[in-house]
Amino acid sequence: MTVELKGIPAAPGLAKGPALRWDPRPLQILKFIPADLHAERTRLGDARQNAAKQLRELAGQVASQIGETEAALFEAQAMFLEDAALVQKAEAAIDSGVNAEQAWHDACEYFASQLEAMPDETLRARSADVRDVGRRVFEILMGVKAAPTLAKQSIILTRDLAPSQTAVLDKSKVLAFCTAEGGPTSHTAILAKALGIPAIVGLGDAVLDIPDETLLLVDGTTGILASNPTSELVADFGQRILADGEKRQREHELATQPALTRDGHRVEIAANVGSVDDARLALQHGAEGIGLLRTEFLFLNRSQPPDEQTQYSAYRTILDLMGNRPVVVRTLDVGGDKEVPYLDFGHEANPFLGYRAIRISLDHPDDFKAQLRALLRAGAGHDLRIMFPMIASLEEVRKAKSLFAEAQMELRNAGRKMAEDIQIGIMVEIPSVALLAERFAREVHFFSIGTNDLTQYTLAAERGNKRVSHLNDPCHPAVLKEIQQVVHAAHQAGIWAGVCGEMAGDTQAIPILLGLGVDELSMSPRQIPSAKQVVRNWPLLEAQELARRALELDNARAVRQMVGGY
Ligand code: PEP
Ligand code: MG
Repeated sequence: MTVELKGIPAAPGLAKGPALRWDPRPLQILKFIPADLHAERTRLGDARQNAAKQLRELAGQVASQIGETEAALFEAQAMFLEDAALVQKAEAAIDSGVNAEQAWHDACEYFASQLEAMPDETLRARSADVRDVGRRVFEILMGVKAAPTLAKQSIILTRDLAPSQTAVLDKSKVLAFCTAEGGPTSHTAILAKALGIPAIVGLGDAVLDIPDETLLLVDGTTGILASNPTSELVADFGQRILADGEKRQREHELATQPALTRDGHRVEIAANVGSVDDARLALQHGAEGIGLLRTEFLFLNRSQPPDEQTQYSAYRTILDLMGNRPVVVRTLDVGGDKEVPYLDFGHEANPFLGYRAIRISLDHPDDFKAQLRALLRAGAGHDLRIMFPMIASLEEVRKAKSLFAEAQMELRNAGRKMAEDIQIGIMVEIPSVALLAERFAREVHFFSIGTNDLTQYTLAAERGNKRVSHLNDPCHPAVLKEIQQVVHAAHQAGIWAGVCGEMAGDTQAIPILLGLGVDELSMSPRQIPSAKQVVRNWPLLEAQELARRALELDNARAVRQMVGGY
């Protein structure tokens, strides 16, 4: 009998194939009384070092095969291994007569459960990383290897996948991932999306009862998993897979063509990029420029901020790759959920409302100007545009612009070559800016609407917090109204307005954004071909009518239902 399970869509795409239940075997932690405590400490030290080496190698592989953002997960894990509190706790246990395996296990469990009890969702999610790192060290200490071997192409069913487990599975054999636990922003979801493998998470324990070899149909877009489908269902799904493949093929062929609506209105389609590899990917997928270069990748996992020259080289490489296409670079946006080891501000009750982004940059003018000088130098001969993140007030824009002018002056006085006539913009991600957009429009050359943050601040629903994720939808009419206002203010002032939050690549949201008059959409590179196709399918006038009706609805669900019915 066909059974359907509904989970959380985590990575889009369709897959048909046999089930394979994959359980990383729970490790039996060896327990004994060590004869030589010094040797035991050394054994743990060596295993940690070995694990760090493995993780850095894995980060290297992931960076080249998937992307720098995903690789950072493993860099961060390697850093856990050097965490002083964790190591001290394990070593103290060894000194009291406990063997390395048990000492390491207890220390990891202690910190993992502390993290699990945190009110902050991002910190809670780290407990899985601590256990993942813990497991890697046990495997080395006990000389076992849990890497699975997949005999044939299968749909992997599992409780939850740790990032390192997802990364070591043979991708050519994985048709889809289906997990009992996990949320839409879990690591499985991030990696699966980056790998282009369909995934459904949070399916509940029932998914673990499906016997191996059961035929499954996975729809990563709707989050529906069907087991033991009828022959009609299989035939129908087979058709959908075929049609989907043809559609993707067509989209790819047209990816480098511009995106014009049916009545000839052009929308610029750009990419969100967080590394040099991402920039290459963006070009392969038909990006007309970079709409958001997140510069954090240069700053995370470092004990010191990168110097001007290091930044210059990285920016230059990306700008050279992009040639004369526009490149919008965002100045450093750390704080919130993105920590940098060299900036320790202590505990904040509400990090997303705390010391973040431009607030930090304006307090550290020397570091901020070093980034601006590096950008100005790297931008010589290119269409470089600079934008400031998390702007809340007009004073912040003015202060940032005056530091920018100082950076220009310093380079000019030093006789350095630099970009001239560059556009300066701001991210619109705080409601205060959307409300006063008219005033902000007089200060800048462009707006880029960061709907990820704008949505969380408008609806007071923390991004990444599963329990409020039903509220966190940028299609909410309140957010749409803000976008409408921002675009209107921009056009009145003769400047352009783009969207660079996840919403820009959301095929349901794109027609509404078109209708609201957005000039540019910037998204993750792999979303570009299908986003362009959506633009081509809509006449502007109809999109305007759709947007007008969306603004009158009560909630995001109704908006999505309406778009779906068009
Ligand atoms: C946003 O907030 O929409 C955005 C693009 O910035 P980030 O996701 O980096 O906060
Ligand atoms: Mg943001």
